[in-house]
Amino acid sequence: MDSPSSYSGHLVSYACNDTQSIGRRFDEQHPTYRNEYQRDRDRIIHSAAFRRLEYKTQVFVNHEGDLFRTRLTHSLEVAQIARSIARELRLHEDLTEAIALAHDLGHTPFGHAGQTALNNCMKNLGGFEHNIQSLRVIDKLEQKYADFNGLNLTFETREGILKHCSIIIAKDLGDVGQRFLDKKQASLEAQLTDLSDETAYNNHDIDDGLRYGLITISDLLKVELFRTQHDIVTKTYPGLDDKKLIHEVIRRMINVMVVDLIDTSRDNIANARLKNVNDVRNQKQKIMAFSEDMDQKKLELKQFLRRNLYQHYRVHRMTKKAANVIKSLFDAFIEDPNILPTEALEHCNLLKEKHGDKGVARGIADYIAGMTDRYAIIEYERIFNPRQLSFANLTT
Ligand code: MG
Repeated sequence: MDSPSSYSGHLVSYACNDTQSIGRRFDEQHPTYRNEYQRDRDRIIHSAAFRRLEYKTQVFVNHEGDLFRTRLTHSLEVAQIARSIARELRLHEDLTEAIALAHDLGHTPFGHAGQTALNNCMKNLGGFEHNIQSLRVIDKLEQKYADFNGLNLTFETREGILKHCSIIIAKDLGDVGQRFLDKKQASLEAQLTDLSDETAYNNHDIDDGLRYGLITISDLLKVELFRTQHDIVTKTYPGLDDKKLIHEVIRRMINVMVVDLIDTSRDNIANARLKNVNDVRNQKQKIMAFSEDMDQKKLELKQFLRRNLYQHYRVHRMTKKAANVIKSLFDAFIEDPNILPTEALEHCNLLKEKHGDKGVARGIADYIAGMTDRYAIIEYERIFNPRQLSFANLTT
């Protein structure tokens, strides 16, 4: 792909360069006044799957409160962090933004609970993994362009979306699966976006957990990353109210992590003597990394969050209900695909022609994964609530 880009001159030689993209699955003319990764980003923002992120859960079910993160606000936070890092290291900001905004497009309703439930349903039918589903959404399921299915994004954006995958699945994924077979790395833009994702959710889960009352500031003082920044803030601003205190601590935590990531990665880049993006891909290990010290501290924080937040009984209750909704819907559709809405049934029938019963199951998984939290609950009501057994509901 050769096209003029005023942006590419700003990049380091080992960044992904929009003028040297490996390309799109279907050839297209270059965009006017935008580079190829900007076009990717714009297509993602205009997709239906992106709009649905607004009503999909991170940890807390969507309707629990308007102040909690959703997949949409999470994706925006990831993009913000990723762009800051890319700009400082002179990597391609637009590419990191595209990857960040698309990285969760394949998520089921009800967050990880939904993903686990759907994966269990698909256990002997090819499994379900949100990361691979994100790729499926942008490669196949978004259907609105005249010339192709999917969004026809560049290789570099698709590579970044596929963060991990098993060898068996990689064999079916063609060009973007190849690096898992060859034990190679993704671009620096992909690597840094992945670590930005982790930075975003570790920190905003603290914020949401405190807001929800599942964890307290005094619990968090056991965690070094939190305690260090908390001590700085309370010394600088004695008597600060909790709301401001929490924000001042968390913003410093994000900053400390991002600075550590940039400094460590910059050293790794220098040691690896990178010349071009192929040097990045041929590395045995990832170049973008936190320091060992920060990895230890992050591990402590993650363990704290797992014990005190993700495994809190109130979260468990929520996830149990969510898993029931997903499993019930899946079982009902498998038992009788004719209760699927017309478009979903047509999708299943197309997949059945190629893959038989597994194809039908995949089509049902696509339909369920595409639901928002509230749509899944409404669909459950429509199918299982006998009070909905009236003529009026024939229209839904
Ligand atoms: Mg994420």
